[in-house]
Amino acid sequence: MLIARTIAELRAAVREARARGRPIGFVPTMGALHEGHLSLVDRARERGAWVVLSIYVNPLQFGPAEDFQRYPRDFEGDCRLAEGRGVECVFAPSDAEMVPLPPAVTVVPRALADCLCGRHRPGHFEGVLTVVAKLFHIVEPDIAVFGQKDFHQSVLVRRMVRDLNFPIEIDVAPILRDSDGLARSSRNRYLGPDDRRAARSLSRALAAVVLAFRGGERRAERLRAEAQRVLASAVGVRTEYVEIVHPETLEAAERAAPEDVCAIAAHLGSARLIDNVILGAPDAGLVRLLVPGAEAAR
Ligand code: AMP
Repeated sequence: MLIARTIAELRAAVREARARGRPIGFVPTMGALHEGHLSLVDRARERGAWVVLSIYVNPLQFGPAEDFQRYPRDFEGDCRLAEGRGVECVFAPSDAEMVPLPPAVTVVPRALADCLCGRHRPGHFEGVLTVVAKLFHIVEPDIAVFGQKDFHQSVLVRRMVRDLNFPIEIDVAPILRDSDGLARSSRNRYLGPDDRRAARSLSRALAAVVLAFRGGERRAERLRAEAQRVLASAVGVRTEYVEIVHPETLEAAERAAPEDVCAIAAHLGSARLIDNVILGAPDAGLVRLLVPGAEAAR
């Protein structure tokens, strides 16, 4: 596995792979890799792609009071996991390589970024899209794989690619969860044992919403109240938002439809956790929580 630290090295390697006829697959990450990230690699490989995985903790997407400094970093462990999963190239640029000057030109999303996480993290998606656009220009992938876990991000990346004509296919992979339902996240490393237990309330809240939806409830207000009830019963969980939105416009639903997404953000100790579900098509890990008795186990 090649480790490219500079844009020039990365471009040379991609050029060579392309000359050998391979489509280029790209998985952007901030490192501290886990099975969720690796499931994105699997999807790129299933498409026959030569896979570039980037590891870059993007300073532009963190607010001043957020966790940029203490964000988990484990470069050697990440490289072992990436190589074990068949990644051909890790791109791990320094800040000086990626952002040599404070940017004078950025990608600024419009109203689509004003809800969900965007409302609570001002400037976050400008930072995300600016660096994703730079990475797209550097790697020039045929296909890029993102996770449904960061639902709002995936919607904005799709729109950026469409609105700005990037010749890249965006694939969005389902959320990968621990066996108890907690969505895998690098930030789960912040959770102590008590918070780790309480963190299960996010996926349980989503499961309660799906159960109510399956039971015929369509009033978004009632479905949101189901989730809020579960979150409120967990010790130490401070709910930031529970919303039910259209999967592309992100408009809040009054009556929920199967394609709508219920998205949650909550604070637990020093961690901010997010999770979501497509009401009519829950991911496999969430379906496991829907068995009778899961409600009682809460
Ligand atoms: P991050 O390193 O947290 O910025 O995540 C990099 C990519 O991995 C993003 O596209 C995330 O949505 C995706 N990802 C993170 N956690 C998961 C998960 N549990 N399941 C699937 N994809 C994930």
